[in-house]
Amino acid sequence: MKAIYFDNNATTKVAEEVLEEMTPLFCELYGNPSSMHTFGGQIGRRIRGAREQVAALLGCDPTEIVFTSGGTESDNTAIKGALAAQPHKRKVITTRVEHPAVLTVCRDLENHGYAVIELGVDRQGRLDLAELQEQLDEDTALVTIMYANNETGTVFPIDHVSQLVANEGAIFHTDAVQAVGKIPLKLSQSHIDLLSLSGHKLHAPKGVGILYVRKGTRLSPFMLGGHQEAGRRAGTENVPGIVGLGKACELAAANLEEENSRVKRLRDKLERAIVEKCPDCRLNGDTGNRLPNTCNISFEYIEGEAILLMLDKYGICASSGSACTSGSLEPSHVLRAMGVPFTAAHGSIRFSLSRYNTEEEVNYTIEKLPAIIDQLRQLSPFVAKQAH
Ligand code: PLP
Repeated sequence: MKAIYFDNNATTKVAEEVLEEMTPLFCELYGNPSSMHTFGGQIGRRIRGAREQVAALLGCDPTEIVFTSGGTESDNTAIKGALAAQPHKRKVITTRVEHPAVLTVCRDLENHGYAVIELGVDRQGRLDLAELQEQLDEDTALVTIMYANNETGTVFPIDHVSQLVANEGAIFHTDAVQAVGKIPLKLSQSHIDLLSLSGHKLHAPKGVGILYVRKGTRLSPFMLGGHQEAGRRAGTENVPGIVGLGKACELAAANLEEENSRVKRLRDKLERAIVEKCPDCRLNGDTGNRLPNTCNISFEYIEGEAILLMLDKYGICASSGSACTSGSLEPSHVLRAMGVPFTAAHGSIRFSLSRYNTEEEVNYTIEKLPAIIDQLRQLSPFVAKQAH
C-alpha cells in the first residue's frame, strides 16, 4: 500500500532533482574540498554553488551561510555561541513553545547561572509582545524565538520581534526550521542575527542544515577542529548533503508562491471537511497566521494515538500532539502552554502537507476519518461517562 504522507513537519521526501544532483558526489566526485589537488578542489566549487542557492532563498549574502548537520546543531550553536561571545550578559529570553532543540538548551543554561525567561502564549498560540518588551533589558544577551511552530504552524511576527530585540542591543536568533521554503523570507531586510534551517524539512536529506550568521554578529564557534566554513564550524563538509540542500533551496525558491498556495488550498479543504463532519473537534493555533501546510486538530474524548493507529491501517501518516514519555502519555508542551484542555490536548492530531500531496489523498482522508472518530468515540470511557 502506498503511504499517504501527511507528516511533512516531521520530515520530507527527498526531491528527485535533489537526489540527482547529489548522486555523483558519492562515488565520482568524492574528494575532500580542503585538499590541494584539482580532484578535491573542484568540490569547493560545488559547495560555493550551494551556498549561493541557500542565500538566494533566504535573501542574504552567501558569506553569511554556515553549513551544519541540521536544525539541532544550528540551534545549539546559535544559543551557546552567542552567549560565549558575550560572557558579561546573563539573561536569555525564549518561549514556552519552542522545539526541544532550543528549549532543552535554554533550560540547561539555568544550571550554568543564566536567568532564562520563557514567554507564554495565548489560546491561539500568539506571543504577547508587551511581555517581551518588558523583559528586554541591558543584561539580555540573547532572544531565541521560533519563526513558526512545528506543531500548530503558528507564525510569530518575527520582523517586529527582531526589531524590538535590536533596539535593546541583544542578539536575536530564530529557529526557522519549519518556516523556510513555506513562507518568503528576506533576511537582508530583517533584524535577525542568527537563523536555523534544516534540510530534511524542505526535501533535502537528513543530516544537513545551515546557520545564518548576519555579518558582524558576535558568535563563538561551537564545533572546534579544522578551519572549514571560515573557522565557524569545524569538520569535513557533508558535500552530498550540502549540494542537495542547495538544490532543494533552489526548487523551493522557484515554486514558493505557486506550490504553497496549492498546498494551502488542500490543507484548507482537509480541515474544513473534518471540522464539518466530526463533532467536538477544534483547530489549534493562530488560524490567521499559520504555515500553509499545517493543520492541528483536537478531537475531544479520544486519544491521538488511537486515531493515528486507525489512520495507519488505511496508509495515512499523520502525527499526534502527545509524546510518549516513560510509559505515560504526556500531552504536548505546546498545546499545554496554549491552555488547551487536557482531554482535547490528548486527542490532537497534526496533518502536515507538502507539494507532493494530491487532491485524491485529501479526499480519501476526508472519506475515512469521520468514521474512525465515530468508532473511537463509541469505545471511549470519557464519552460513556458524559452520557451518564
Ligand atoms: N526546530 C524545529 C522547529 C523542528 O521542527 C525540528 C525538527 O523537528 C528541529 C528544530 C530539529 O531539526 P533537525 O531534525 O534537523 O535536528
